Amino acid sequence: MTELPDRRLLLVHAHPDDESINNGATMARYAAEGARVTVVTCTLGERGEVIPAELRHLAGAALGAHRLGELTAAMAELGVTDFRLLGGAGRYGDSGMMGLPDNDDPACFWQADVDEAAAVLVPVILEVRPQVVVAYDDNGGYGHPDHIQAHRVALRAVELAAEAGWTVPKVYFNRVPRSVAEAAFARLQSELPGLPFAKSAAVDDVPGVVPDERITTEIDGTAYATAKAAAMRAHATQIEVAPGERHFALSNELAQPLFTTEYYELVRGDAGDGDGPETDLFAGLRTETDGVA
Ligand SMILES: [Zn+2]
Repeated sequence: MTELPDRRLLLVHAHPDDESINNGATMARYAAEGARVTVVTCTLGERGEVIPAELRHLAGAALGAHRLGELTAAMAELGVTDFRLLGGAGRYGDSGMMGLPDNDDPACFWQADVDEAAAVLVPVILEVRPQVVVAYDDNGGYGHPDHIQAHRVALRAVELAAEAGWTVPKVYFNRVPRSVAEAAFARLQSELPGLPFAKSAAVDDVPGVVPDERITTEIDGTAYATAKAAAMRAHATQIEVAPGERHFALSNELAQPLFTTEYYELVRGDAGDGDGPETDLFAGLRTETDGVA
């Protein structure tokens, strides 16, 4: 099979840190292989809770600016040079967790008009012309308003870009197969006494967990595990990576497995040839014109 000569991957995320948790190994792999990797982050996450005591004075715009620095450092760890804030830094505010009054702030991303925000993303799609877009599912993976909105905006922008001249050949959602999550949490229980976290999260705390049969694609990022852990560690206000780099916790201090194989569900476009799950997001794409409307 002829490999696509000029591979371009676009990932749409809600906050700085989501990209490294979900796709760190995938991005490091494709960047190392010479593909163009573009990350669009929709908000600066300035309502996030801060883990390190010495940084807890950061809030609002100061936290947003700090998190942009963390994103910049994470991208350097992954070898990704093209990362952008949707509409520029600060255009869309962090909406906070579902149900909080933060969600009502007219400047927050949750309150943005989907078509308007999608229209901000369309020029990026037309410029990059990605063959692959990675987004969240319609629940945002786990129900956070900014993640739900990032899904809506990404999918709408893909539609609008098609009308404007670039049809994205393949769209994926971030996923974790339930059996993999369950096995990882079972192992985690036995290792918990050695971890710097008192308690474990649960399978249902992991975004995007679905029955195994929904998984279409597995990216083995074992070779990039160190880069992924380093990128996650760069988001120090949000993530604590345990020694050994096999577990991490968010500000709730609940231990979670750090997955170095990353999983996807193809929701638009045709899967590549072959039996079993795809092992390449670009599988089946052969010519540069595959995305032309
Ligand atoms: Zn997030």
